[in-house]
Amino acid sequence: MLTSILFLSAIFSTARSCPKHDNYQSHPHLGRRQVRIDVGRELKDWDYDHSADWATIRPEYALCQSGTHQSPINIAGQELAVTHTPDFEGYKNEPVPGNFANWQFAPSFTLHHPEGEITGLPNLKFDGQEVFLIGWHIHAPSEHLVDGRRSRAEIHMVHVNEEDEEAVVVGIRVNVAPPGTPTESAFIKQLGPLIHFNDTSQIEGLHVNVRQAIDEVGGLAEYWTYKGSLTTPPCTEGLRWFIPRQELLVSEGQMVEILAASRFSHRVPQEVWLHDINL
Ligand SMILES: [Zn+2]
Repeated sequence: MLTSILFLSAIFSTARSCPKHDNYQSHPHLGRRQVRIDVGRELKDWDYDHSADWATIRPEYALCQSGTHQSPINIAGQELAVTHTPDFEGYKNEPVPGNFANWQFAPSFTLHHPEGEITGLPNLKFDGQEVFLIGWHIHAPSEHLVDGRRSRAEIHMVHVNEEDEEAVVVGIRVNVAPPGTPTESAFIKQLGPLIHFNDTSQIEGLHVNVRQAIDEVGGLAEYWTYKGSLTTPPCTEGLRWFIPRQELLVSEGQMVEILAASRFSHRVPQEVWLHDINL
């Protein structure tokens, strides 16, 4: 079970924004109670100050420059999508166990699952396909823009297909509720104290209801979708993005806490080219 989490994290350590788990130790109480351990961190060889130039770091990052449908993008002047409609019935309205950490830039969560068995994870269906949620992480400020407007933060809910390949990301923009509407996000509230970007510890066995994030943006009844990429090196393409029109609204206090736990972590917007927005 743990090996699987490790394996997935190692492959997609940047894209999935999971911290390195090299020092990860199996724990007999996993899933029954919470354990906080220091898992250390392997620093990445790229940073956000030079996100326009990642392809020069390593040949493996070439797509960051030469890709034809890179993410993130500015979704400008687009009607809402009516294609590839996502179905979140497979996201049960109950807490699921995972590891809560900080991926060096912002809070992140990796779901537990038995080794080699991802089909029990919350799943999303679209176009007759089924993909499985392996984790989520935050960027601050948001990576996607809508009509040129950037949100305060963005949650990436990362899904893999049955072959364990990254296939779908739901990019939920996060903002502060308007004045006079003291909205508190139940999704954020359940996390408890957020883990700071300098903190390499990880809380194992935290139970999080991931369905709440989807519900708090109207169940993605309104969305945009396009063919994109990972927003971190190696910028792999072939992923489908879903961007809900609604932002996830949090209280001022919650936003302050999110920003305090996070570092600047958005890639420069990419030119829209072969993204087939809403097609
Ligand atoms: Zn991301």
